[in-house]
Amino acid sequence: MEMLNFTVGPVMSNEEVRAIGGEQVPYFRTAEFSELMLENERLMKKFAKADEGARVVFITGSGSASMEASVMNSFTQQDKVLVVNGGSFGARFVKLCCDVHEIPFSEIKLRPGQKLTEDHLKPYDGQGYTGFLVNVDETSTGVLYDMEMIGRFCRRNNLFLVADCVSAFLADPFNMAEIGADIMITGSQKALACPPGISVIVLSKRAVERVNQMHVRSLYFDLKDSLKNGERGQTPFTPAVSVLRQINARLREIERNGGVDTETAKIAALAADFREKIKELPFEFVSESPANGVTPLHPLNVSAYDIFLELKDNYNIWICPNGGELKDTVLRVGHLGDLAPEDNTTLINALKDMQSRGLL
Ligand SMILES: *Cc1c(COP(=O)(O)O)cnc(C)c1O
Repeated sequence: MEMLNFTVGPVMSNEEVRAIGGEQVPYFRTAEFSELMLENERLMKKFAKADEGARVVFITGSGSASMEASVMNSFTQQDKVLVVNGGSFGARFVKLCCDVHEIPFSEIKLRPGQKLTEDHLKPYDGQGYTGFLVNVDETSTGVLYDMEMIGRFCRRNNLFLVADCVSAFLADPFNMAEIGADIMITGSQKALACPPGISVIVLSKRAVERVNQMHVRSLYFDLKDSLKNGERGQTPFTPAVSVLRQINARLREIERNGGVDTETAKIAALAADFREKIKELPFEFVSESPANGVTPLHPLNVSAYDIFLELKDNYNIWICPNGGELKDTVLRVGHLGDLAPEDNTTLINALKDMQSRGLL
């Protein structure tokens, strides 16, 4: 039986993307590759619903590399930023701002699964903050934050808004220009459903201006250099060429099928199908504000991690375990990548089989 992957990344890729992975890697300082990269930029901007003056940078490095690059190119020790910390990805922004880059910050700490409300933001109104960092879908607990509310708060306080959409891009509705986000980040291995290796930073016009004035103490993460090279469809250093070709195939596929809204609707429908089917089994939902990309579940009778192991070892199905304190209490079922409602049924049947064997 073929492996079925319900993790939140890397996820399953379609045939076309997989075939590109089997090809020789072409030389990239060519007009052909530049053209492909300019198309990647155009489609990324379109799908992020970014403003006309926005630009796109492709970083060879996983999503966290782009999180770090965004922090380094947006803020200095003269800033004061607010970080939403609702789980392990929020904690990563805290770590980047606080321990690594020493940017003054406050954190809004949320319980696992808790949603963000106006009441959480109110105490920070008019307090001299300059930036805001948030994981649009806090993937560790599948919480989708209200970006319209956050956008209003940021506009009101003139905050530079960094939106980590690594797992939300394509999966949840996101309109960068309307929200007023300055930076949007995503990665190749989530809803883009390509192998890991590339992360993407979309910068608003305002963000491009800011980045171009920054003095960044880094060779690899100085986005000025990436922006300059990107004007001609190139990167300063050798990129993950094959992954960028795979991203191109995926972006074109999404465009052919009707664009970002069609893709988002497909992922939303897959998530809804699963959430309906899982209701008859002994699980509780964890997220107060469910994102489309992933369903975190609390098993009522057994360890979450044991379910992960049993499905992997005896059914060839991968779901996503949680780390840290949620290891035994929460597991996650992803809805990203080349999956269909029949695959949800296969997973549900495996869980029912486990139940009949007394393992659920
Ligand atoms: C997956 C993910 C990341 C990036 O993780 P990497 O392992 O560095 O690719 C960042 N933020 C969120 C919200 C994610 O889901």
